[in-house]
Amino acid sequence: MEWRTRWYITIRWDRADNSPTGVTVLERVVDSPADLRRLIERARADPHVVAFPYRSTRELVGDEPTECHNGHGYAGGSATRPIRGWWPCRCGGHLILQCRDCADVRVEPAVDLGCDARERQARRRPQR
Ligand SMILES: [Zn+2]
Ligand SMILES: [Zn+2]
Repeated sequence: MEWRTRWYITIRWDRADNSPTGVTVLERVVDSPADLRRLIERARADPHVVAFPYRSTRELVGDEPTECHNGHGYAGGSATRPIRGWWPCRCGGHLILQCRDCADVRVEPAVDLGCDARERQARRRPQR
C-alpha cells in the first residue's frame, strides 16, 4: 500500500454546445502533475471555459496485506483477524496490523524517512 497524490479538477463551460464533450461540467481525476497541467492548459486556452477549480488529495492505494511476515493468514474469523491500529503521520498515516498468532506487526505503507510516526514510536519506548 502507498500514499498517492491525486488531483480532482472540475471544468465548467459557458454552454454545453461549446464543450468538446457536450456537457457544461466535466470532472476529472488525474494521478500526475503533468496530467493536471495538461488539463489546466487546455482549460485556459479554451475561451468558453468559465472555471476550472482543482484540489489535491492523498489517497491510500493498493491492497491490504493478507498475511503477517511469518505467513499467518489474516483472513477468516475473529481468531485470525489482525488487531488493527492507525499511526497518524505527516505522510497521511500508517495502517498497523498485528498478527494474533505471533504478534508480528505490519506497518502499511512502510515508515519512510519523511515520516514522523517513526519518531513518535521511538519516543514511546523507555529511555535509558
Ligand atoms: Zn503471525
Ligand atoms: Zn508516514
